[in-house]
Amino acid sequence: MTELTHLTISEARDGLKAKTFSATELAQAHIAAVEKARALNAYVLETPEKALAMAKASDEKIARGEARALEGIPLGVKDLFCTDGVTATAGSKILGNFNPPYESTVTQNLWNDGAVMLGKLNLDEFAMGSSNETSAYGPVVSPWLRRDDSGSNSLGTVLRSARDSATNTLQGDAGLLSKFRVPGGSSGGSAAAVAAHLCLGATATDTGGSIRQPAAFTGTVGIKPTYGRVSRWGTVAFASSLDQAGPIARTVRDAAIMLRSMAGPDAKDTTCADLPVPDYEAAVTRGVKGLKIGIPKEYRVEGMSPEIEKLWQQGTEWLRAAGAEIVEVSLPHTKYALPAYYIVAPAEASSNLARYDGVRYGLRENGKDIADMYERTRAAGFGREVKRRIMIGTYVLSAGYYDAYYVRAQKIRTLIKRDFEEVYAQGVHAILTPATPSAAFGIGEKGSGDPVEMYLNDIFTVTVNMAGLPGLAVPAGLDSQGLPLGLQLIGRAFDEETLFAVGQVIEDAAGRIALPQPWWA
Ligand code: GLN
Repeated sequence: MTELTHLTISEARDGLKAKTFSATELAQAHIAAVEKARALNAYVLETPEKALAMAKASDEKIARGEARALEGIPLGVKDLFCTDGVTATAGSKILGNFNPPYESTVTQNLWNDGAVMLGKLNLDEFAMGSSNETSAYGPVVSPWLRRDDSGSNSLGTVLRSARDSATNTLQGDAGLLSKFRVPGGSSGGSAAAVAAHLCLGATATDTGGSIRQPAAFTGTVGIKPTYGRVSRWGTVAFASSLDQAGPIARTVRDAAIMLRSMAGPDAKDTTCADLPVPDYEAAVTRGVKGLKIGIPKEYRVEGMSPEIEKLWQQGTEWLRAAGAEIVEVSLPHTKYALPAYYIVAPAEASSNLARYDGVRYGLRENGKDIADMYERTRAAGFGREVKRRIMIGTYVLSAGYYDAYYVRAQKIRTLIKRDFEEVYAQGVHAILTPATPSAAFGIGEKGSGDPVEMYLNDIFTVTVNMAGLPGLAVPAGLDSQGLPLGLQLIGRAFDEETLFAVGQVIEDAAGRIALPQPWWA
C-alpha cells in the first residue's frame, strides 16, 4: 500500500471509509513526517496533540457511520488564519504572542467537515512576498532541488547545519544556500508542506498570486477563488479588496474537495457572496468539449523563460486535443497591472496594519509616551518589506499624491476588469497563461537589491486579483533542471467549476509529476 502521507485527499477519504486505516494512524504518519522535515521550516507551529484529538473524534464519527466531507483528513493551516487558542503570527514578530480568541470562518468550515489540524504553516510576513524569505520565522526551503544539485546527498546535512536553531534563519555561504530553492510566497509553507507530504492539503491566501505562484514553484495545485467566494473573516488582512483564501493540494480533485468546504456565504464578511457552493468535485470530470479557451497575446512578456513559453504552447495543444476551441484574445491593459497592484495593495495594507500599535494585541515596546510607544513597537515588530509597503501605501494615499497614484491605479483596475469582461463577452470560458515567468529561484538570489525584481514574479497573477476573478495553477511539467512549471487558468466570476474541469484535463495530459524524495529527513 502507498505510504499514508503519499495519499491524495480523495484516496485517504476512501481508505478511511473502507477502514483500511484509521484517522489516528493517518494523523500519526503525518506528525512523524512533519517532525523529520523541520529543516524545511514549513511549519511555524506543530499541533500534534490537537491533531490526535481531532483524529480520535473522526474515528468515532467513522465508526458511527457519520463521516463528513473531510472526515479525518490532516491539513496544514497558513499562519494567517486565526485559530481559536492557537497562536496566529501572520509571519510577523508583531503578532508573535497573539493568541486569537476566535476561529476564522475558513478553518471553522474545514473543522465542521471533519478535517484534522496538523499545525500552522510559515508564510511571508503579513503575506507580503513571493519567496517566503520575508517571514520573521526564517525562510521555508522548497523540497525541490535542481537536477544538478540533487546528486549531492549531503544537502540535507548542509541545510540542517545552516539553520540557526534560535532564529531558524539560514546562515552560511550564499553560494551554497542558493542551491536551495524558494517555495514561492507568500503561501510558501503551505506549498512546501503539500509537496513534501507533510499534510494532504493546506489553506492558503492570495492577494496578488500567493496561492498560484507557490503552487507552480512546488508542483502542486492551487486555486484563488473569485473575490467573495470565500469568507475573509478571521484571516489577517493584507489588502482587503484583493485578499482571497483558497486551497493548495496535490491534485485538481483534491483542491476541488477542499474549496467546497472552505467556501460559502458568511454573515460575518459583508463582501462574501450569498451564493450556493457548487459540487466542485463533480466538475472535475466534465472535460473541455465545446469550451472556448483564450490565449492572451499580452502575456508573451520579455524575459519569460523559453521553457515556459513552450509549455504554454503544449498546454494549448492538450486542450485542443481534448476538444476545446483555442482562440487568441487581447487583454490590452495587462502591462499596467503590476504597477497598479503595487499601489493599491500597499495603500490598503498601510491602513490595515495601522491597528498593530502595541495597544490591543501583539508586541508592545514601552516608550516615554504613547507616540513613542507606537513608534518603538512598530519599528521593532515589522520587518523590512512590511515597512516598505507601509511607506509606499502611506505615500500614495497622502493628500498631495492621492490623485496621481491611488486614483489612477484604481482607474487602471477598472480597465483591467473590463479587458476580461470583453473577452468573456466573446464567449470565452477560460483563459490559459503561464503561472509564473520562471521556475523557482534560489534562496537569497532575488530582490535583495531591487525589490521590483521580486515583484516581477507576480506579473501573470496580479491581474486576476485586480479583476476579482478565479485563477487556478496546475503543474504542467518539469524544466530542464527538473523543477516544476505551472500553467494558470483564469475563469469567469464565480465559475470555479470550469477551472476544475479544464485543470483536470491538463493534469491528465501532463501526468501527475513525481514529487521529490525526502533528502531533508
Ligand atoms: N507577491 C505579492 C506581494 O508581495 C502577492 C502576495 C500575496 O498574494 N499575498 O504583494
